[in-house]
Amino acid sequence: MKHANIAVFVPHSGCPQQCSFCNQKTISGHATQPTAEDVKKACETAMVQGCEGRFVQLAFFGGSFTAIDKSYMLSLLEAAQPYIKSSFLNGGIRISTRPDFIDDEILTLLQKYGVRAIELGAQSTDEKVLSINKRGHTAAEIFAAAKKIKEFGFELGLQMMTGLYGSTPEKDKKTAEDFIFMQPDTVRIYPTVVLKNTLLGELFEKGEYNPPDVESTVELCAEILQMFESSGIKVIRLGLHAQDGVEQDFLAGAYHPALRELCEGEQFYRRILEKLKDKPEGSYEISVNKKDISRATGQKKKNLLRLKSQGYTCKVSGDDSIQLHEFTLRNVTECF
Ligand code: SF4
Repeated sequence: MKHANIAVFVPHSGCPQQCSFCNQKTISGHATQPTAEDVKKACETAMVQGCEGRFVQLAFFGGSFTAIDKSYMLSLLEAAQPYIKSSFLNGGIRISTRPDFIDDEILTLLQKYGVRAIELGAQSTDEKVLSINKRGHTAAEIFAAAKKIKEFGFELGLQMMTGLYGSTPEKDKKTAEDFIFMQPDTVRIYPTVVLKNTLLGELFEKGEYNPPDVESTVELCAEILQMFESSGIKVIRLGLHAQDGVEQDFLAGAYHPALRELCEGEQFYRRILEKLKDKPEGSYEISVNKKDISRATGQKKKNLLRLKSQGYTCKVSGDDSIQLHEFTLRNVTECF
C-alpha cells in the first residue's frame, strides 16, 4: 500500500539545550509553532487532495515532541483524533523525539492518542560524541528508550548522524552496529551538514572542525546502508531533504540532493568489482534493471571509469527481468 505522510513541523520546541549541529528552525523551514488549527487544516487539505487506498499517517517532525509543554502537545494530538476515529488516518500518528523524554507515562499517553511510530533522534552511541555535540543524553538512555518503545509495541525508528564533531568512520559504524542490536523498524541516516548559527558553524569558522565531504561520506554511508540492508532494516532516509533553508544556511559538509543515489551507486561499484576481481581483464556487459542504469554507471560515469582503471572496460545495459539492485555480468571481450 502506498504511503501518504501529512507532515507537521514542530520546530525547536521542547529542547532542553541546543545540539551542536541544530538550527531546527532552518531545518524544518518553519519558524512558527503549529497550532491545533494547523493540524486540522493539514488533515483537511490531505482529505481534499484524496488519499484513498493509501496508508495515511500524520507525522509530527522537527522537534522533541514528548518534551514540549504537555498541554500544547495534547492540543496537537487532540486535533488529530477526529481523523483517527473516521479512519482517514489509518496509519495513526508518527512522532520524533529525544531518548531522554521517553517513559512509561508518556508512552501510555501516546498509545491512547493513536501514536503508532516513534522515531528517536539518537545520532550516535558514542558517549564522547554525544557529550561534545551537546546532545544532553547518554547512550544508555538511547538503549533504554528503544527497548521501552518496542516493549510497548510501537514501531521504532532510529536516526543517526555521520561525521559529527569528534566522530570517526569507526565510531559511526559502531553506532550502526548498536542500532542493529536495538532492532529498529526504520532508520534515517543524516550525514552532518554545518549550518550558520550553530556551534558546529562556529567551530568550522574557527578552523576547529571540518566535516567530512560528500565523497568520503558516500564511501562510509554506502557501507552503513549495506549493514542495515543485510540486517533487514529499512533505511527510509539518507541525507537531509533539499530545502531552501538548508541551502541558504549551508556552511560545509555532506549536503547533496541525491546523496542516497550516490551511495547506492557506490554499492553497485563495490559489488561489481568484487565479482570481477577473479575474472580476466577485458570487456564486460553489466545488465541491470532499467531503473538502476544510472546507479550502476555512477555519477558522471564514475563507476565505469574506476572499473576501466582496473582493467575492466564495461558497458551497462537495462533489462527489466533483473531485480532492482541486482546485476549480471557477461564477458564480451571477443565481441569488441
Ligand atoms: S534535540 Fe533535536 S530539535 Fe532539539 S536542539 Fe537537538 S537536534 Fe535540535
